[in-house]
Amino acid sequence: MRPEAGAALADSLRHLIREAGPISVARYMALALAHPALGYYRRRDPLGAEGDFITAPEISQLFGELVGLALAQHWLDLGRPPRVLLAELGPGRGTLLADALRAARVVTGFPEAIALHLVETSPALRERQARALAPRPARWHDTLAGVPDDAPLLLVANEFLDALPVRQFVREGRHWRERLVAVDDEGAFHFVLARHVTPLPGLMLAGATDLPEGSVVELSSVREALVQELAARLAGQGGMALVIDYGGDERVPAGDTLQAVRHHRKVDPLATPGEADLSTHVDFHALIRPALAEGVAAYGPVTQAAFLNRLGIGLRLEQLLRHAGPAQREALASGHRRLTDPAEMGRLFKAMAFTSAGAPVPPGFTPEEKRTP
Ligand code: SAH
Repeated sequence: MRPEAGAALADSLRHLIREAGPISVARYMALALAHPALGYYRRRDPLGAEGDFITAPEISQLFGELVGLALAQHWLDLGRPPRVLLAELGPGRGTLLADALRAARVVTGFPEAIALHLVETSPALRERQARALAPRPARWHDTLAGVPDDAPLLLVANEFLDALPVRQFVREGRHWRERLVAVDDEGAFHFVLARHVTPLPGLMLAGATDLPEGSVVELSSVREALVQELAARLAGQGGMALVIDYGGDERVPAGDTLQAVRHHRKVDPLATPGEADLSTHVDFHALIRPALAEGVAAYGPVTQAAFLNRLGIGLRLEQLLRHAGPAQREALASGHRRLTDPAEMGRLFKAMAFTSAGAPVPPGFTPEEKRTP
């Protein structure tokens, strides 16, 4: 990692804002995270103890194993198609897929049916993923559009949607003004409100119309478009997509959830663009409409604890404990607790599933959790 790259990114943002005026939070996020040369995700491996944050598959093998078994179960439910595309959006270190594939070996015929497709922009992480999956071949793509569409799709995205850009709007009387990022004479970034008001379609603001003065809503057209693209594929190819992330299951928007994390600590999101991970909570309710628009079924969101408990995390833990040494037992038990405890990831994290119409209820969900328009 080159420290001067962060400074270069901040400089180019200052230049852009001075030339063209304050930029949206979405544009700020997109540039800070995904600038082709200087963006946060283009330049480093953000995961692990030495990195900035840690994710469920990095905490415990239980997570990837259960996801793998859920995907394998859906393959059985589809009638064991001879070829299936197993895809992940933002696979990080490849840990989830490696654990998933190991666990799913018990399902006869499934490993041979799989073609692996990884959507990842970071060259460093692509390399890491290749190592984690070796000797299994995989193909990498910059976007979902690159994944083939000639076989059923089994897709997982863990902590991917939270990094996609959102725009923020602040309530002022009957109007909404966009929250923008500006720069002062000293070069420090700060928030301002757009001078003009933004007319927001009522549909986008479901649940937001009763919010008090000064409330913030977050809208992510990129996230919704991605889910719609995914849903269109499921409608055409068949299959299932599992989306896991932190966010609300409330219909009422959560307000300003933009956060920056660096070296496992929350920092000011505007202080060091390109040097800290930026994310927002995923508004899961906003994902239902674009999915249903393509005629697929949507389930959830349910808490990560409910999802993992239904997939049998308790049984899997017992199984592994039987063959574990003392140090490994400790790690397994603490991993299980961190993934499912409501005070840790159990409640804040949610899972949602999408399947082609008419497919069986996806593993980890109940028929009552199927969404209707
Ligand atoms: N799913 C992994 C990693 C989460 S971090 C885990 O749970 O551990 C987010 C991942 O998404 C990283 O691999 C990052 O490089 C990738 N990523 C972020 N923005 C992306 C984008 N716009 N397109 C493709 N990959 C992206």
